Amino acid sequence: MEKMTVAQARDVSAVGKQILLQGWVRTRRDSKGGFSFLELNDGSCFGNVQVVADGKLPNYESEVKKLNAGASISVAGEVRASPAQGQPTEVHAQSVTVHGWADPETYALQKKRHSFEFLRTLAHLRPRTNTFGAVARVRNCICRSIHEFFQEQGFLYVHPPIITASDCEGAGQMFKVTTLDLAKVPQQGPAVDHTQDFFGRPTYLTVSGQLEAEIFACSLGKVYTFGPTFRAENSNTSRHLAEFWMVEPEMAFFDLTDNMDLAEAFLKRIFRDVLERCSEDMKFFNERIDQTAIATLEGVANSQFVRLSYTEAVDLLQKSGATFEFPVAWGNDLQAEHERYLTEQTFKKPVILFDYPSKIKPFYMRVNDDGKTVRAMDVLVPRVGEIIGGSQREERLDVLERRMREQNLNPESYWWYLDLRRYGTVPHSGFGLGLERTIQFATGMANIRDVIPFPRTPGSADF
Ligand code: ATP
Ligand code: MN
Repeated sequence: MEKMTVAQARDVSAVGKQILLQGWVRTRRDSKGGFSFLELNDGSCFGNVQVVADGKLPNYESEVKKLNAGASISVAGEVRASPAQGQPTEVHAQSVTVHGWADPETYALQKKRHSFEFLRTLAHLRPRTNTFGAVARVRNCICRSIHEFFQEQGFLYVHPPIITASDCEGAGQMFKVTTLDLAKVPQQGPAVDHTQDFFGRPTYLTVSGQLEAEIFACSLGKVYTFGPTFRAENSNTSRHLAEFWMVEPEMAFFDLTDNMDLAEAFLKRIFRDVLERCSEDMKFFNERIDQTAIATLEGVANSQFVRLSYTEAVDLLQKSGATFEFPVAWGNDLQAEHERYLTEQTFKKPVILFDYPSKIKPFYMRVNDDGKTVRAMDVLVPRVGEIIGGSQREERLDVLERRMREQNLNPESYWWYLDLRRYGTVPHSGFGLGLERTIQFATGMANIRDVIPFPRTPGSADF
């Protein structure tokens, strides 16, 4: 007897085989003919397989007829072509073994639909629902594409530290890492005495692996990081998490145009793979979550992204006649409403904005000849807004030091970063893609808390 997944058992090629299936009951329906239908799911695909359990099974009355949603079972039986509409196969059980019951009186996931807010309070059970199973599979598919895309192009996967001493972009937005007793913090004058702390200095959870990725790009060429990052910003929005996953490619000898080309090809590859490899899950999202989900992904996979300078974008927004909550003025950061206007109203496709004012961007972005703008780029998509942020990096030592001082950073504490410019400096570029925003965009899920298994947000770290 062959052990099979539900996905395999649902395929016509399984017809005629004796198999063992294991999973969780979604529903049970008893027929007047003295047998029962069990809908079984094991997470291998969106759909269930129908198990036909005959009344002659020895435990039919004692167990099979008491099975409810959530119970776990093993089924040994034969796969047959199904006479019913909408399913190619069904499994005729020779035995049904119950592993665990799920008392319908107390089991929280009954057949009725639950709100996503309610399901967040059941993070340990929500993966058993259609929606969260589908999200988990799409998330997995995207992670696989990320690795495949970079590996196929000869990128090295590198691992930056999660605990870091450099507070690069994040002053105030970083989680502190300490073993000091908060009830009696050692002090040196008015300040905390960090020499007594675990690392002998202040340390934080990383907000980005970029600076470390630059070290490897400036040694080995093309690299990427892919891991969790942390931001202690108090943003209670549908697009912000305190802990999220970021992919950060970093490439030596790439200028901003190369960087944009890579970002565009990368996103297209991810979304094509989702359409192809998760077609059943996407059909569900399209029917139940966002009626435009599939068309949007197809559009992105087949369109050419718009590339527009920040200055042109400001001009366009000012002339649009639209009213915004935040006024648009050259030199101000664009708000989500402006970004969405550009992708949803003006162009109706992804937009890459580049050459932002230097004042609103970090020290490491390369200064343009105009002296006012830097070689930054943001990729904006409909509904989600910014999905990628990146830049060509400043490779000139003197300019980099000047920019650090302008932003009140001490060049000495970045001595190792500056060494990359002192010895064999090269033009290089990179970007960061937020994994959860990518999943949000692909699935149409409205809230970022519903595309990560265990969301961490201000005031909430349950499970
Ligand atoms: P935003 O302006 O939307 O807050 P950001 O400019 O701070 O984002 P970057 O520092 O450029 O973001 O990070 C790169 C990418 O990481 C973003 O384009 C986004 O996809 C993702 N990202 C950033 N912050 C968060 C967050 N708090 N939760 C989830 N994803 C995030
Ligand atoms: Mn950004």
